[in-house]
Amino acid sequence: MSNKSLKILFVSAEASPFAKTGGLADVAGSLPKALIELGHDVRVVMPKYKLIKANFEYVTDFPVKIDNLVETCVIRKTELPYTINNKKKKQIFYFTDSFRYFDRDGIYGHSDDADRFIFFCKAILEMLPLINFKPDIIHCNDWHTGPLCLLLKEQYSFIEFYSNISTIYTIHNLEYQGNFPSDVVRLLNRGYDVFNAEKAEFYGMFSFMKTGLVYSDIISTVSAVYAREIQTPQCGERLEGLLAKRTGDLYGILNGISYEEFNPETDKTIARNFGVESFEDKKENKYALQKEEGLPVSDVPVIGLISRLSGQKGLNLIIEKIDDILRKDLQFVLLGAGDDYYQDQFRRIAAQYPGKIAIHIGFNAHLAQQIYAGCDMFLMPSRFEPCGLGQIISLRYGTIPVVRATGGLAETITDYDLDPGKGNGFSFNNFSSDEMLDAIERALQVYSDKPDEWNELIVRALKTDFSWNVSAKKYEELYYHAARMHGRAVDAINDQPKKRIAE
Ligand code: ADP
Repeated sequence: MSNKSLKILFVSAEASPFAKTGGLADVAGSLPKALIELGHDVRVVMPKYKLIKANFEYVTDFPVKIDNLVETCVIRKTELPYTINNKKKKQIFYFTDSFRYFDRDGIYGHSDDADRFIFFCKAILEMLPLINFKPDIIHCNDWHTGPLCLLLKEQYSFIEFYSNISTIYTIHNLEYQGNFPSDVVRLLNRGYDVFNAEKAEFYGMFSFMKTGLVYSDIISTVSAVYAREIQTPQCGERLEGLLAKRTGDLYGILNGISYEEFNPETDKTIARNFGVESFEDKKENKYALQKEEGLPVSDVPVIGLISRLSGQKGLNLIIEKIDDILRKDLQFVLLGAGDDYYQDQFRRIAAQYPGKIAIHIGFNAHLAQQIYAGCDMFLMPSRFEPCGLGQIISLRYGTIPVVRATGGLAETITDYDLDPGKGNGFSFNNFSSDEMLDAIERALQVYSDKPDEWNELIVRALKTDFSWNVSAKKYEELYYHAARMHGRAVDAINDQPKKRIAE
């Protein structure tokens, strides 16, 4: 079994380079490629949002029933060219296209999101025989894909074509659960039999996230630390009990990033390419960023932050200490989109501190690369962080992370002061603005007083390997395991913990 080439369908509501709001898109854009390198047939499916302008090849169309509506789904396809290990390859992406559900602005946040993503889940299952692709594994990601696990287990698996398909459900962020009023059950067109506490019901709501957790053969999340944290009331978002029951089927596998896409030696979007041998050229990116941002061009340390502006990201700690931070001899560049509250706060701060801080509200992939390359430090004081990609991308660009030690941040960043031999950043434990400020001050001190040590930190960061090399093999192992475990899902909730194979 374990040498068999698998057919894997990777299901995601967003994927780079087509649509992105956060780390899920990075993973959906890069993990499948790493799995293809291991010899598997991996295809990605996502909705065809209006913002995806390309006119992809028509594959097929069919009706999908959503409550009393019958809507046409058009399946489109593209073969995206890419280079990996200096080889030119192509990757298959399918798109579910629907005039009613996806031909509109934005990705999430519509009042009919439940309808849209149940349509997505149903369309994917209906599509498979028509495109003649019978996956061994369907890899679902986050709440948008939970009902697919339910429909497969409760309905489609009784049909021969689907009977051997296993599911993995990956939690990228447990906070976003897709909980909707109970009448959403109607959209499944299968009665209320699944609406009970053992299955899809969650405090009186229909929970997309819970359907994924209950009905998938295997659950994974994006770091081993977060896998443990979500089994506790502090991080479990009221699902800790269910997750603890399924602990034997719950794995933590750290995200990687594409070392082709994020490569300071070849990145065309940055002012000056650099690598381990030429790390001093990184400075040119700092000067270019300062110029671009209207900040005085100088050697003062520049702290960067690129983030969704949400409560999760610990932005309140920064707002609390902004006067202390900006009183120091440094500059700050922030790029983010999200909650109005944070947008307003940072706009106010920008007006108050011209020449010290540059703020960009919005999503800008191009500027993000310039910030990763141009800054000296990257700040992530997250309240919780399932994996976090910002710190990983920063390391790739020799930018030293200052983070709160939680979830994937705790797993990837070792505090330099605690372990100068291995340290690759600065971290603090408690969610406290004083501790954050202390970590920033410690980083600034090494930057200013010990330039040789700082340079060593840059080189260490540039040499770190957080590509998919290790983690893709762990997913592969999990897929084989899922195939063996197939069919357990709901019943597994009552089973004893099983031997762990990957963490
Ligand atoms: P999350 O998935 O919680 O948003 P991650 O750190 O896992 O956080 O991933 C965030 C990804 O989104 C990174 O690739 C980051 O560079 C990118 N990103 C976040 N906000 C922006 C933005 N405003 N503009 C460009 N890229 C962004």
